[in-house]
Amino acid sequence: MKGFRVRRPPTRSQEILPLPLAGPDAVYLLKRSSARRSLALRVSEQGEIAVNAPLRLPRHEVERFLHRHADWLRDRLESVRSRVFQWRDGAELPWLGGRLVLVTLSPGGRPAVRREADRLVCAAEESALAAAVVHWYKREARPLLAERLAHHAARLGRPVPLLRLSDARTRWGSLSPKGVVSLNWRLAKASPEEIDYVICHELAHFRHRNHSPAFWREVERLYPDHVEQRKRLKAEGGRYFEF
Ligand SMILES: [Zn+2]
Repeated sequence: MKGFRVRRPPTRSQEILPLPLAGPDAVYLLKRSSARRSLALRVSEQGEIAVNAPLRLPRHEVERFLHRHADWLRDRLESVRSRVFQWRDGAELPWLGGRLVLVTLSPGGRPAVRREADRLVCAAEESALAAAVVHWYKREARPLLAERLAHHAARLGRPVPLLRLSDARTRWGSLSPKGVVSLNWRLAKASPEEIDYVICHELAHFRHRNHSPAFWREVERLYPDHVEQRKRLKAEGGRYFEF
């Protein structure tokens, strides 16, 4: 029987591997397939890195390929991470794990922002829109975060620590040596559960000023669902930091 070929579905495999050249915690998804003859590198809109490779290509060949494209990869990650938020009418603003729809009005004097149910109505010049909305977030975030901080401190029988609203570009919270809890105003975009986790994380630092196993046991005690909320913050974090 000449020229007869059985077509088999391709064999595939997937694994997640560390990628130090893209950052200390960076990983990439290596997708192998017997149907592939060449290597391809992709970075998704969410910043996930994936490499498609032939099924039996040695790992060091894949790594060499990644090193050859390191500059491109870093540029691409940088641009994904610094994606600028589109300030326009109808834009979706993350708020307490849900969203508000931005409604823009032409300004009548000073910029004014008010919330109407799930809409954030903003009367401002286009150039002042971002600043006006951020100002509104900060104003709303403070009492909201203060209330949760007081709630969890009371649960622990601790005096309520001082709260400082932070504008850090990468971190959600910190505890100063003097016992002041800093919380990022962008937490107002996160869900109540994510907020509670961050607050319990900082409160746990009163007992352990490090991230030792003992510290994580304390977090576990204060907020048993911490693993899930940490995962979500990691996954959504990029979106919350768009503005
Ligand atoms: Zn910490």
